[in-house]
Amino acid sequence: MTAIVLDGKALAKQIEIELAERVKKLKNKPILATILVGDDPASATYVKMKGNACQRVGMESQKVILPESTTTEQLLAEIDKLNNNSNVHGILLQHPVPKQIDERACFDRISLAKDVDGVTTHGFGRMAMGEFAYGSATPAGIMKLLDHYKIPIKGKRAVIVGRSPILGKPMALMLMNRHATVTVCHSRTENLAEVVKEGDIVVGAVGRPEFIKGDWIKVGAVVIDAGYHPGGIGDIELKAVIDKCSAYTPVPGGVGPMTIATLIMQTVEAAEKVEGK
Ligand code: NAP
Repeated sequence: MTAIVLDGKALAKQIEIELAERVKKLKNKPILATILVGDDPASATYVKMKGNACQRVGMESQKVILPESTTTEQLLAEIDKLNNNSNVHGILLQHPVPKQIDERACFDRISLAKDVDGVTTHGFGRMAMGEFAYGSATPAGIMKLLDHYKIPIKGKRAVIVGRSPILGKPMALMLMNRHATVTVCHSRTENLAEVVKEGDIVVGAVGRPEFIKGDWIKVGAVVIDAGYHPGGIGDIELKAVIDKCSAYTPVPGGVGPMTIATLIMQTVEAAEKVEGK
């Protein structure tokens, strides 16, 4: 079986070209505010990549950098400032924040209109009910990739390994809203390999290198790997899957670029809304 490569890098590039045209039509450049708290080098890299993507489409990013010792109250105050700044269209609070901070409270302080990374409880609830909200960027990016390659979703068995608030949970709701039959697995799931074998669509969102083994994947499945680990491997043992699946996301170049493209697209949408477009 020759599997379709779900090329997130190529699709993200195409989306950026379209976004650059939309940005040109706006009176004011969209501004994404990025908040980076603490010294995690991976987080700093992700924020930089998001800022670079803003530049590529002609947008601006406003960087807020806070020390490792920041308190919940201090971070909430920064978010309030950005909520009240009419020049800012979207707010990204880079996850994870240092342990002393109540991350959920901070995410939930972001105003719904500026929640372009789709992290608020309010936005999640609206999305779950089929109402408009900006989607959580990683699963929303995965949905765009599935749609671009016309992967059938309706009626299919989707198995998601991971139930985090920014990835596994919203992924489950997005697939369910599109009429997939969804199973969500986590660290207490029994007979995980057997459950994964039922998946027509399998999403790896565990955060452990090659944790999902090739022989857990059924022949013809669509394999989505959200993980990224040193050495360019994901959460799924992809090399053992490529010959038997029907489609897969490469690592790198699959899910990662789509997350950033989705964040940028949702910021452009927020800016268009402000200008009544
Ligand atoms: P997370 O918050 O650490 O969540 C991991 C999930 O995996 C949890 O729900 C956990 O279950 C589950 N899990 C852990 N060990 C397990 C086991 N032995 N069996 C079954 N399930 C297990 O991670 P995350 O933020 O969702 O990220 C997941 C992966 O996606 C990571 O590799 C991360 O780097 C990647 N990611 C990529 C992007 C991107 O843009 N490309 C964005 C975000 C994340 P419990 O709930 O029971 O603890």
